[in-house]
Amino acid sequence: MFESLSDRLSGVFDRLTKQGALSEDDVKTALREVRVALLEADVSLPVARDFVKKVQEQATGQSVTKSVTPGQQVVKIVHDALVDVLTGEGEPGALKVDSPPAPILMVGLQGGGKTTTTAKLAKRLTEKEGKRVLMASLDIYRPAAMDQLAVLGTQIGVDTLPIVPGQKPVDIAKRAKQQATMGGYDVYMLDTAGRLHIDEVLMGEVEEVSAVVNPRETLLVVDGLTGQVAVEVAQEFDDKVGISGVVLTRMDGDGRGGAALSMRAVTGKPIKFVGLGEKMDALETFEPDRIAGRILG
Ligand code: GDP
Repeated sequence: MFESLSDRLSGVFDRLTKQGALSEDDVKTALREVRVALLEADVSLPVARDFVKKVQEQATGQSVTKSVTPGQQVVKIVHDALVDVLTGEGEPGALKVDSPPAPILMVGLQGGGKTTTTAKLAKRLTEKEGKRVLMASLDIYRPAAMDQLAVLGTQIGVDTLPIVPGQKPVDIAKRAKQQATMGGYDVYMLDTAGRLHIDEVLMGEVEEVSAVVNPRETLLVVDGLTGQVAVEVAQEFDDKVGISGVVLTRMDGDGRGGAALSMRAVTGKPIKFVGLGEKMDALETFEPDRIAGRILG
């Protein structure tokens, strides 16, 4: 579907006279191709522009080593710079779940994969870290959402908070906290309601719940195929409730994953996990190296 960046660049460099070092013009021409590749990978324009500028400064004047072609060399410089931007502080995939019961708040828009990711993460914490996890759905708007979490809980062998009709989200959160404390759970995960668009009610509700449970992690779950929209959603949630990390879902789709770069460059928040399918095991620790390779094609 996409021509790989390496192929494009070798075309560019074939037309250039080989010199001992990458000249400013060589680099400029190559970076024009890089910019197109980034835009095709759904990186936002300002982010692509800034990124290319940074790489241009790094690449100009670098001597061309004999073992690689100038095209390969530029690809390597770009790849390393991408990894640099994509790498967040701390260990990817690590969650603050000490001092039990540790609350994890899951936020995001409807359909982004929040409920599925809550269950996937609960499974991972249970199986890989030996934690006792309790999950609770705060989605009072779609009764099916509560059932969905309960069904997933049964499937993966993780407890869910019993459903009590008519309770407000903040009261369900309080009940989850109480049950997690009394039941000796290590972690309790709160799956908040999503909306099709961000609105005051949604944000107010998440703020209220956050103030009551004081989450150790607030993870934003967003569809990685929505590109710039995902970044805007992240900014809004971060402004209002403060997020500690991001989970990008649908990275099994055929998008090139450029949202990851924009997300890091614009919000500065660590991407902790990527969703790679609908199954309960389809969640992986975010790997900058792999995404960089995918963005470049
Ligand atoms: P919510 O409204 O944010 O809670 O979204 P759901 O968890 O209900 O997910 C919506 C749909 O997306 C469901 O059909 C999920 O199976 C699917 N889904 C979630 N994560 C992924 C993913 O990483 N890849 C794919 N292909 N589908 C996903």
